Amino acid sequence: MYDMIIVGAGAAGLTAALYGVRAGMKVVVFEKMGVGGQIILTDIVENYPGFPSISGPDLMDKFENHVKKFGVDIRYEEVTGVKKSKAGFEIITDEEKYETIALVIATGSQPRKLHVDGEAEFIGKGVSYCAVCDGPFFKDKEVAVIGGGDAAVKEALYLTQIVKKVTVIHRRDKLRAEKILQDQAFSNDKVDFIWNSIVDHIDGKDKFEGITIKEVNNPDQKKKLEVGGVFVYIGHIPNTKFIDLVKKKEGGFIITDDCLLTSEKGIFAAGDCRDTCLRQIATCVGDGALAAYHAGEWVERVKSGHA
Ligand code: NAP
Repeated sequence: MYDMIIVGAGAAGLTAALYGVRAGMKVVVFEKMGVGGQIILTDIVENYPGFPSISGPDLMDKFENHVKKFGVDIRYEEVTGVKKSKAGFEIITDEEKYETIALVIATGSQPRKLHVDGEAEFIGKGVSYCAVCDGPFFKDKEVAVIGGGDAAVKEALYLTQIVKKVTVIHRRDKLRAEKILQDQAFSNDKVDFIWNSIVDHIDGKDKFEGITIKEVNNPDQKKKLEVGGVFVYIGHIPNTKFIDLVKKKEGGFIITDDCLLTSEKGIFAAGDCRDTCLRQIATCVGDGALAAYHAGEWVERVKSGHA
C-alpha cells in the first residue's frame, strides 16, 4: 500500500515525488517511456529560473538525479487503469496492480497531429514532431514548420542553425508565441512566414516530396511547397485516456481546483495534463509541489479517519 502514487516522470511528477518523499510519504512514480517528459525534446531552455541556458535533457537529468538522491522509486510500467478501492485507489499497470491512498496524475501530453493525407505514412520520413530529434536529418535543406505558438516559433529558430531555410505556416495572421520569440523570428533571415494557411496534404508516393497548403479563407487556393521536411507544432493532447474517474474538459485536460484536486477526492492532477492557461516547466514544478502537498494532507486525513 502506497501513500501516494504518481503517474508520469516529467517535471510535474518528479517534483510531486520529491515533495512526497521529503514529507515522509511512501511514494512510487510510474513512467511508461523515459524520465523527463516533453522537456527532453527541447533543445535549449531559457526560462527556467536559475538556469539561464540549459538543454532540456540536461535539465531533466538534474531533476532525476535530485529525486533519486532522496530515494524516489521510479518504475517503468504503463498505468492502464484506475479503480476505486477500499483504501483509496487500485492502480493497474501493464505488469501489476497497486493500492494507494492518493494519486497524482502528471502524465503530460503528446503532439497533436494534422490529420491530413500522407501524414501517417511519412512520419519519420519527412514528417516530424521533434526538431531536436530529427532536425539534423534536414541539414542544409528547406523545411516547413506548422503552427504559431511558442513551440512552433522556438523550434523554427532552432532549425535555422541546421537547415537552409524555414517557412512557418500559420493558420492566422498573428503569432500566438511570446513576443521575445516573435522578435527573434521576424529578425532572422532564414525564417519566412506564410499566413492564413493550413496543410491540405503531404505530397509524395514512396518518398516525401513536400506539402500542399491551402488558404484558410479560400480553400481552393492551394500551393505546393517543395520542402525537404515538415515539423508540426500545433499543440498537444493530454495523456489522460487511461482514467475515467475524474472530470475532464473537452480535449481531455483534467479539471482541478486551486489545490489541484480533481472531481474525485484523493486524485490530484499536475502539469500539462490538467486544464490550465500556461504550460511551462516552472508551472509544472509549481503544480507538482502543490499536488503533493495537498495529497499529503489527504493521506493524513484518511489515516486519522477524518476523510
Ligand atoms: P499552443 O500554444 O497551443 O499553440 C498551438 C499553435 O498551433 C497555435 O498557434 C494554433 O493556432 C496552431 N494550431 C492548432 N491546431 C491547428 C491545426 N489543426 N492546424 C494548424 N494550426 C493549428 O501549443 P504549443 O506551442 O505546443 O505550446 C504549448 C504550451 O507550452 C504553451 O503554454 C506554451 O507557452 C508552452 N511552451 C513554451 C515554450 C517556451 O520556450 N516558452 C516552448 C514551447 C512551449 P492559433 O494560434 O490560431 O490557435
